[in-house]
Amino acid sequence: MKLFTFDTTLRDGTQGESVSFSVDDKLIIAQKLDELGIDYIEGGWPGSNPKDEDFFARAAQELRLKHAKLCAFGSTRFARNPVHEDRNVRKLVDAGTPAVSIFGKSWDLHAKLLGVDEAGNLQLISETVQFLREHGKEVVYDAEHFFDGYINNPTFALRTLEAAQKAGAETVVLCDTNGGTLTGRLAEICAEVRKRFDGVLGIHTHNDTDVAVANTLAAVEQGFTHVQGCMNGYGERCGNANLCSVIANLEIKLGHTTVGPERLQSLTSVARFIAELANLPLRREQPYVGQSAFAHKGGVHVSAVLKDAAAYEHVTPATVGNHQRVLVSDLSGRGNILYKLKQHGLADRLPEETRRELLERIKQMEYEGYELEAAEGTFELLVREALNPGVKFFEVENYEVTTRMHGGASRSTATVTINAQDGIHSATATGHGPVNALDLCLRNCLSTLYPHIAEVRLTDYKVRVLDSKKGTAAKVRVLVEWSDHRRSWSTVGVSDNVIEASWSALVDAIRLELMRLTAQDDSIQKAVEDYCWGV
Ligand SMILES: [Zn+2]
Repeated sequence: MKLFTFDTTLRDGTQGESVSFSVDDKLIIAQKLDELGIDYIEGGWPGSNPKDEDFFARAAQELRLKHAKLCAFGSTRFARNPVHEDRNVRKLVDAGTPAVSIFGKSWDLHAKLLGVDEAGNLQLISETVQFLREHGKEVVYDAEHFFDGYINNPTFALRTLEAAQKAGAETVVLCDTNGGTLTGRLAEICAEVRKRFDGVLGIHTHNDTDVAVANTLAAVEQGFTHVQGCMNGYGERCGNANLCSVIANLEIKLGHTTVGPERLQSLTSVARFIAELANLPLRREQPYVGQSAFAHKGGVHVSAVLKDAAAYEHVTPATVGNHQRVLVSDLSGRGNILYKLKQHGLADRLPEETRRELLERIKQMEYEGYELEAAEGTFELLVREALNPGVKFFEVENYEVTTRMHGGASRSTATVTINAQDGIHSATATGHGPVNALDLCLRNCLSTLYPHIAEVRLTDYKVRVLDSKKGTAAKVRVLVEWSDHRRSWSTVGVSDNVIEASWSALVDAIRLELMRLTAQDDSIQKAVEDYCWGV
């Protein structure tokens, strides 16, 4: 059955504590959601802030949506205003979107807090819906706090739905605004409502009890055909129903049509793209689209997955545009390492003795605190060095870095000397911090000999303390993410000196890029691209 998807990442999603989008971000995200095949995109609340008003003004000029309907969000009219004079309702009309979503009160407690009686509340709902319909809008009516309201006073709650539907709302959405309703109860209430109401019924859940996705699916199983949620589960407090998981479950597990199987394959890339714009790392363990969603670490799992992926994977990763990953770790034994080497087409090219040495070296590094499963770049470099003994490109002679605080501002200056194929190079540079200064120096030293390294840029930098009991003398692990526009990879460094650990990760990344550029072997290149995470 065709179900309607309603994305509220740009409205409810931005209520999340660490989520913030500029107007430009919002326009790009709307375009992406349209390409993904989302049916409705809720862009914001034009009555609540100038940024959202600006978004709708620019959307009317700049957005070319092929499929999705843009939707402006707002509330029913204020009790004291006639509907045509209500500033917020007027802004909804002025937003120029084909659809409008409005929320109204379904819980008698909230109506009381607003100071309106039941008849007054029903009037607010029906007049606002009617006014918007008369202005040519498709109306999605959000019954705020519906489940809590229904539990407290079912007659009151049901009458509000009736008022919205009679006034012409095309879709009536039950909202678990506080996110506290568990699935069994929610399903019962949805079944009751379905019995009494025809037409399109929708579900909007929050994740305060960690069952928002389950609740959405339960409503669908009761005959609801409109699902609301946010990409990556962003949203107020604990977030909204994660639309990525909702869509994947509806398509793959329940056989419904949302975005269709072809567009479903872009789910992972859209989820990652939005996370990047939100400047939030995508949760590794996020179902379907996370980096670890199809990652295998345990030795037994790995050998079984090599024989038949279905043994430890509930769906084929490619259906949602994700990849299977086999992690390298001291926990998982030789099976994983050999798998990696085979995956690269490299196993046969390494003598038995070199293979064993490589395995020992990896085990030793893991023991020292390197986290190779998160740093595929460092692992790849180890393999390439084993394949090309003696190829180093450059040796580091020495480096020095100082940070000086003066007048409230600090500046870091570094000097690096390396011995490259064409002789000694030395560079001094000032940067935003010590790592940036060292990075600039290394690039200056190598730029004439290897101009391509300019394309390698640092995209993320994380420091983790390994033995926190030692306080500031503790060993740290530095994980750096890199990109060269075509792919991304991570390198890792471990030391009791954070600069040393960062330097090691930095040198590994540059060396790896040089190794890749000189290895004129398409099969390695292809295997590497497949191996490195990146979409
Ligand atoms: Zn909400």
